[in-house]
Amino acid sequence: MEPEPSKQLNMVSLRGIPSVDQLLTHPNAEALLREFGHDWTTSAIRQVLDEARGEVRAGKPLPGDQELIERVQELLVTQSEVSLRPVINATGVILHTNLGRAPLSPETLKQIELVSAAYSTLEFDLASGKRGKRDVHAADLLIRLTGAEAVLIVNNNAGAVLLILSALAKGKKVAISRSQLVEIGGGFRVPDVMKQSGAKLVEVGTTNRTHTADYEAAIAEGTRLILWAHQSNFQIVGFTSNPDIAELAEATHRSDLPLIVDLGSGALVDTSRYGLAHEPTVKEVLYAGADVVCFSGDKLLGGPQAGIILGKAELLEKIRKHPLYRALRADKLCLAGLNATFLHYLKGNAEDEIPILRMLSAKPEDLKARASLWAAELGFGSVIEGVSTVGGGSLPGQDLPTWLLALRCKSAQKAAGALRQHNPPIIARVQEDLLLLDPRTVLPWQEEDLIMGLKSIEKLIEA
Ligand SMILES: *Cc1c(COP(=O)(O)O)cnc(C)c1O
Repeated sequence: MEPEPSKQLNMVSLRGIPSVDQLLTHPNAEALLREFGHDWTTSAIRQVLDEARGEVRAGKPLPGDQELIERVQELLVTQSEVSLRPVINATGVILHTNLGRAPLSPETLKQIELVSAAYSTLEFDLASGKRGKRDVHAADLLIRLTGAEAVLIVNNNAGAVLLILSALAKGKKVAISRSQLVEIGGGFRVPDVMKQSGAKLVEVGTTNRTHTADYEAAIAEGTRLILWAHQSNFQIVGFTSNPDIAELAEATHRSDLPLIVDLGSGALVDTSRYGLAHEPTVKEVLYAGADVVCFSGDKLLGGPQAGIILGKAELLEKIRKHPLYRALRADKLCLAGLNATFLHYLKGNAEDEIPILRMLSAKPEDLKARASLWAAELGFGSVIEGVSTVGGGSLPGQDLPTWLLALRCKSAQKAAGALRQHNPPIIARVQEDLLLLDPRTVLPWQEEDLIMGLKSIEKLIEA
């Protein structure tokens, strides 16, 4: 039997599909080969030809060679887009973990670039010409800043907690208040980390109230170490009580045991300067008697991702000798960045240079001026009062008054989605039919891109 006429036509069309080699010799393929290389270009051609074959079988016309090579180019461009790329954070959440937490200061970036473009003194002592230690680099500056005896830097604070407990508490009873058995997010739960380290968890007190006597009772029953963990991302309010770190240190030291403090955010400056609650600073916690303190590099410190461990030299030496330290230690980019960040604090220019401290200290009247300028440049939108938050598991429930650019939309969700597709992507807040943009977290050099992005979605905006 003869095939139906349309099938017949398609069989002819299928035969008309060019070969991979044919497309490789197309004049426009040359530039693609130069940019993407032979293997990658060939595999893109195969994919495009497969798709074309499917289309022809479905009764669609056979695309010409020119059209096919254009599809190959599109595919290669899409495949080569890096997925980790900068965005404009207009959410007003300063330490947005999903958006990479703290942006770095220009000096910090410069130091990272200098150290990584060449060989470095990472583990090399220039005076002796012999092997040195990578921990010395950030350590001297941080010791000067905090008065700690010794410093160790690892990958992140979750790693720091795991390392400290593995080195000091394996097989030992560790007491922690029930109010501090926290989950930080991203699956980091204090009780799980304790279990992983081999420590035996001893819960003391209740969710809302824990007293020094509760810890003392645990010590009497064989607890060998006390852990104090920052609640970070929640607050217990009302009828609450917890001994402060000084009281707890006194009780712990009476029995000759160490007090470990997971500070979480680790502020080096007094947060009450910004109208926020006072967070115990690293220096205060050490002064109050904590033996080992750890915190993140990319939260309130405003530096690169790191877990910073400091405290008594004898305990830190034990931690440094644990095999996990080798697995968790910080890399040279992180150490270079921390050095530059610590220098800002030592020189007293942290508030001018470190982006997140600039954001924290931004004055509402200046934020209002920026939002108003945006509205004026756009010719649409209004400026309304609102709040920014610190985020990143720091200072929960603490808001900072701000001014927002508010855009009324038919669908604010749709407009927010369109902004995410802009290059660079813009991340805004949605509140009912309003699209809200907070100048506090938009870096000044991103403003031009922000305005361009907002203009590009003008047709989705009503007022
Ligand atoms: C954020 C936080 C951690 C985890 O720190 P990372 O640097 O994100 O690994 C651990 N403990 C507390 C109390 C925290 O707030």
